[in-house]
Amino acid sequence: MAVSETFRVDTERPEQAIDVTSQVRDVVKRAGIESGVCQVMVLHSTAAIAVNETADPNIGADVITALGNVVPRHGEWLHDRIDDNAHAHVKASLLGPSELIPVRGGELVLGTWQGIWLFEFDGPRPRSVCVHVLAA
Ligand code: ZN
Repeated sequence: MAVSETFRVDTERPEQAIDVTSQVRDVVKRAGIESGVCQVMVLHSTAAIAVNETADPNIGADVITALGNVVPRHGEWLHDRIDDNAHAHVKASLLGPSELIPVRGGELVLGTWQGIWLFEFDGPRPRSVCVHVLAA
């Protein structure tokens, strides 16, 4: 059995980290699945999903700063000839589009300080996040 929902996030800045843990928890609760796995996947190629501490929003900002230090906004990017956002694709590729989180007792299994970040690298724009809860 699987339950799948997609929710929308309207990002507000060119680069932004948004805590989406509560939206994902809500889908898992509605799914009513006691034991399984939850995949969280952003359906875009210039955004990413990562599990890390969300209690301090500076961590999301620090990840954006770190990626900016290793991925220059303007370089010799081939894709910039098409739509000038190659840096956003590269940053999204480094973090990846999804995370897989265990579900036990009908709840996400996350460490005390872990939450789920949506990273925007080419905003602002509406983003779709798919949450797929699979019983196992
Ligand atoms: Zn592009």
